[in-house]
Amino acid sequence: MLDTDFFRRWMTAAAAFVDREADRLTALDSPIGDADHGSNLQRGFTAVRAALEKEAPDTPGAVLTLAGRLLISTVGGASGPLYGTLLRRTGKALGEEAEVSEEQLAQALRAGVEGVKTLGGAVPGDKTMVDALVPAVDALGDGFAAARAAAEQGAEATTPLQARKGRASYLGERSIGHQDPGATSSALLIAALAEAAA
Ligand code: ADP
Ligand code: MG
Ligand code: MG
Repeated sequence: MLDTDFFRRWMTAAAAFVDREADRLTALDSPIGDADHGSNLQRGFTAVRAALEKEAPDTPGAVLTLAGRLLISTVGGASGPLYGTLLRRTGKALGEEAEVSEEQLAQALRAGVEGVKTLGGAVPGDKTMVDALVPAVDALGDGFAAARAAAEQGAEATTPLQARKGRASYLGERSIGHQDPGATSSALLIAALAEAAA
């Protein structure tokens, strides 16, 4: 079973990964965006880490809804509301239980990803974070390591795609040949989940 501490570890690991990879995320957002993705997420996850230290959410769902709320209020851009929705929806779907099963987490994350798709209107293949999140959720039944590998593959597979959503879509065919920054950060979020489980 996954307890509240597991979810804190997930968010803390995500903050550490985003810190480590912020420059890379911003560099990916340079040719097909406005070069702020790394700094946007770093601001957000720094706020999440600080809030988790100060407040002590006492259920898995409360950890994720707190994190989601903070991402919405601090990240800005396209990715803030989308990541905020992902975590808030997932947290809400976990309910108020003190421990949840991996199966419950997989179902809740699926609801979170549905929230992202509804809010942003993106489907797999549009060269967005959805391209990493959907395969990750599909693979979660096979374990956290499988989800991590699927998310990383999904992010890499965005390179040859033409963007159909977000800022990168303004570039049309010129968006081809660059890995999507949001799919890359989504793979980090799933890698952090696997790290929390390790
Ligand atoms: P902004 O584009 O506002 O500067 P960020 O740079 O923080 O925001 O995030 C860009 C990322 O957000 C993209 O790489 C993409 O993965 C994701 N994104 C943008 N629009 C959408 C959308 N409509 N649906 C899903 N993801 C999106
Ligand atoms: Mg940007
Ligand atoms: Mg921006």
